Amino acid sequence: MVSQRTQEKYAELALKTGVNLQQGQALMINAPIEGAEFTRIVARKAYEMGAKDVHINWVDDELTRLKFEHAPDEVIASFPDWKVKLHDSFAEDGAAVLNIRATNPDLLEGIDPTRVAKANKVAAEAMKNYRKYTMNDRIAWSIISIPTGDWAQKIFPNKSREEAVESLWEAIVKIVRVDQEDPIAAWDAHNERLRTAREKLNQKNYKKLIFTAPGTNLEMELPEGHIWKGGSAQTEGGVTFNPNMPTEEVFSLPHKYAVHGTVASTKPLNYGGSLIDGFSLTFKEGKVVDFQAEEGEAVLEQILNIDEGSKRLGEVALVPHESPVSQSGLIFYNTLFDENASCHIALGKAYPTNLKGGSSMNEQELDQHGVNDSLAHVDFMIGSEHLNIDGVLQDGTTEPVFRNGTWAWK
Ligand code: ZN
Ligand code: ZN
Repeated sequence: MVSQRTQEKYAELALKTGVNLQQGQALMINAPIEGAEFTRIVARKAYEMGAKDVHINWVDDELTRLKFEHAPDEVIASFPDWKVKLHDSFAEDGAAVLNIRATNPDLLEGIDPTRVAKANKVAAEAMKNYRKYTMNDRIAWSIISIPTGDWAQKIFPNKSREEAVESLWEAIVKIVRVDQEDPIAAWDAHNERLRTAREKLNQKNYKKLIFTAPGTNLEMELPEGHIWKGGSAQTEGGVTFNPNMPTEEVFSLPHKYAVHGTVASTKPLNYGGSLIDGFSLTFKEGKVVDFQAEEGEAVLEQILNIDEGSKRLGEVALVPHESPVSQSGLIFYNTLFDENASCHIALGKAYPTNLKGGSSMNEQELDQHGVNDSLAHVDFMIGSEHLNIDGVLQDGTTEPVFRNGTWAWK
C-alpha cells in the first residue's frame, strides 16, 4: 500500500482541485467497494472541509457481472427510478460529485454484448436530466481513479495481486502529481500550461484540422464559434473545478456533418468491460460509413448502433505524446488514463459548452451549428509519435499544429 500520508494528499487534491468542495455543500461519491479505505479518507476530509453530507454509491464489479449473468432481459432493459431520483436530487441541491473509477477491464468478457449495450442505453436515457448538470458544468464534478486488484493485474499480468496494486498506486500517484511536494500548486501550474494551449487554439480559430498517421487520413471541420477547453472548468456559479484527474488534453468539437476520411485507433478501447482493439472508422459527411476491428468488432458495432449520433463525432482532443501517462509506458485499459496519453476523438455527444452560446441552445439549434447529440460519448485514442496534424486557417492557409505526436509550436 502507498502510505496513509500519500492517500490523504490524494484525497485532499481530489476535494480541493478536483471538485473544489465548498462549505455547506453536499458531496456524492461513486466508488469501488474495494476502495472503501481510500473512500473513507475522502469522506472524512470532506466533512472536515465543511461538507454538509457525504453520500457514497458503492460499485461492486462482481455484483455487476452476476447481474449480467443471471438477471432476466426485462431487468437488464430497465433502469430503477430511485437511482434517477437519487442523482437528480443531489444535482438539484448543487452537490459536488466525485467519481472514483476503477473497473476491471475484462469484467464483462463473454457477456452478450447486446445485453450490455441495452443496459448502457437505458441507463443513458434514464440519466439524461442528470447528465445535463455534468455536461453543461452546472455542478462541479470530477473523475479520479485508485487501483483495484483485477484492474491492476490486467496492467501488470506478471505480478502478484498485491504487487500489481502497489505498482498501479505508484503509477497513478506520479501521473496525478501527488508525488510532488505540493500537488495543488503543481496542478495550478499544469492548468496554466493547458490554458495557454487552449487560448492559442482559440485565437487561431482553425476552420479545419487534417490528421495523418499510419492508417489515418482524416479531415475534420470545426464549427463556427467552436471553443477549445482544457484543464480546469468553471461551474455556472463560478466555482473552478477539474473534471478529470489526470487531464492532459485541450479539446473542442468536430462539425457533426463535416468529417471525411479514415482514422485508425492507436490503443485498445475498454467499453464498459469489453475490449475493442486495432480498429478503424471511415467517415463521409461526418457519419461512419465503414468500420473494422481486430478485436471486439461486435462491440464496436453496438456502439455505432446506439443511435444516429453515435455514428458521428462529438469531441476532438489534442494531447502531446510526451504526456506523463504516455511516459509511464503503460496501457491502462481505462479511458481516464489512456485518453490522456494521446490525441483522441469521441463518438457521440458533444459538450455544448464547446460552442459559443451552446449551453443555452435547444437541440435543433445545436444541430444547425454542427454540435452532435447522442446517448453515447465514447473516447478512443488516435495519437502516437507518428501523428501529424495540420490546421487550416479561415483564410485557407495551412500550417502545422502537431508534428510527430507533439505541438509543432515551440
Ligand atoms: Zn477528451
Ligand atoms: Zn471525451
